[in-house]
Amino acid sequence: NTAKVAVIGLGKMGLPMAINLVKAGFEVIGFDPTLNAREELVNKGGQASVSATDAAEDADVVITMLPNGAIVREALLGDEGAIKKLKKSAIIIDMSSSAPLDTRRLGEELKSKGYRFVDAPVSGGQKRAVDSSLTIMAGGEEDDVQAIAPIFDAVGGKTFKTGLLGSGHAMKALNNYVSGAGAVAAMEAIILGKEFGLDQSVMVDILNVSTGRNNTTEQKLKQFVLSETWGSGFALDLMAKDIRIAADLSQNLHLTFDNLKEIADQWESAQESLGEGADHTEIYRYLNQHSKK
Ligand code: NAD
Repeated sequence: NTAKVAVIGLGKMGLPMAINLVKAGFEVIGFDPTLNAREELVNKGGQASVSATDAAEDADVVITMLPNGAIVREALLGDEGAIKKLKKSAIIIDMSSSAPLDTRRLGEELKSKGYRFVDAPVSGGQKRAVDSSLTIMAGGEEDDVQAIAPIFDAVGGKTFKTGLLGSGHAMKALNNYVSGAGAVAAMEAIILGKEFGLDQSVMVDILNVSTGRNNTTEQKLKQFVLSETWGSGFALDLMAKDIRIAADLSQNLHLTFDNLKEIADQWESAQESLGEGADHTEIYRYLNQHSKK
C-alpha cells in the first residue's frame, strides 16, 4: 500500500485505526489537538502534524474520526481545514458517526470544490478498532467506495455498501438506536429485578442464554456495570448524539416513532444528569436514580 492517508481525530477510535493503517503499510499522518495522541501515533511508526491542513497536504485519502458532523465540517472546511492544501484527486472518508442529511449537504459542497466524499461509519467499539475487525457501513459513489477498499480492509472486518452518500451514517444512527434501546431495557430489567430480590449477576447469566440477550447483556453488564468500572470506551454523550440523529431523521421523514423519541430523550437526560466524560454504560446510574423518584 503506497497511498498516503491523513487521519484527522486520534481519539479512542481514530488512534487505533491509524495504527492499523501503519501496520498495513500505508504512509499515515495524523492530526489531533491532543499531544499525547500525536506522540502515540509517531511511536507506532506514523507521522503527526499540528493542523488538519498540514496533515492533508499530499494525502491521497483523508479520514475524519471526530465526535460529530459539525466538527467534521470544521476540520475539513474551516480556517485550518484539511482541504486548504488537499489535491483534487483525493478521497475524503468520514468514518465518524455523523448526521446523514448534513453529510449529504457537506458532500455537495465538497463535490463543488472537486473532492470525492464517502461516509463510512463503524461499529464494534474500541476493542474491535484495536484488532481491526470493525463493521464498516459505506455510503457514496460505487467507484469511490471501491477505490478505498484497501483502507477498509486495514481497519475493519466486514464492509457493507449501504448505497448513496449519507446511507452509512443513517444505518449507523439506526444501529445505535437499537443498541441504546437494548441497553436501557436490559438495565431497567436488572434494576427492577434487584428490587424484587433477584441476584443481578444471575439475571445476566440467564439473559445471556435466553431470548432477552443483547450486546449490553453480553458485553457490558458484568464487565462495566456490575463491576462499576464504567470503562467501555464509548462515551455517553456520543451515544446520546447518535440516537438524537436517528430521532431527527424520523422527524425529517415525517414519521412518528414514540419509542425512538422517548429513548433519545432518556439518553439526553442521562447526559445532562451525569455530565461530560461519562461512559455510556453509566446510564445505569441515571436509570437507577430515576426509578426511585
Ligand atoms: P473521542 O472523543 O475519543 O475522539 C475524538 C478525537 O477527536 C479526540 O481525540 C479529540 O481531541 C479529537 N478532535 C476534536 N476536535 C478535533 C479537530 N477539530 N481536529 C482534530 N481532532 C479533533 O471519540 P471516539 O470514541 O474516538 O469517537 C469518534 C467517532 O466515532 C464519534 O463520531 C463516535 O460516535 C464514533 N464511534 C465511536 C465508537 C466507540 O466505541 N468509541 C464506536 C463507533 C463509532
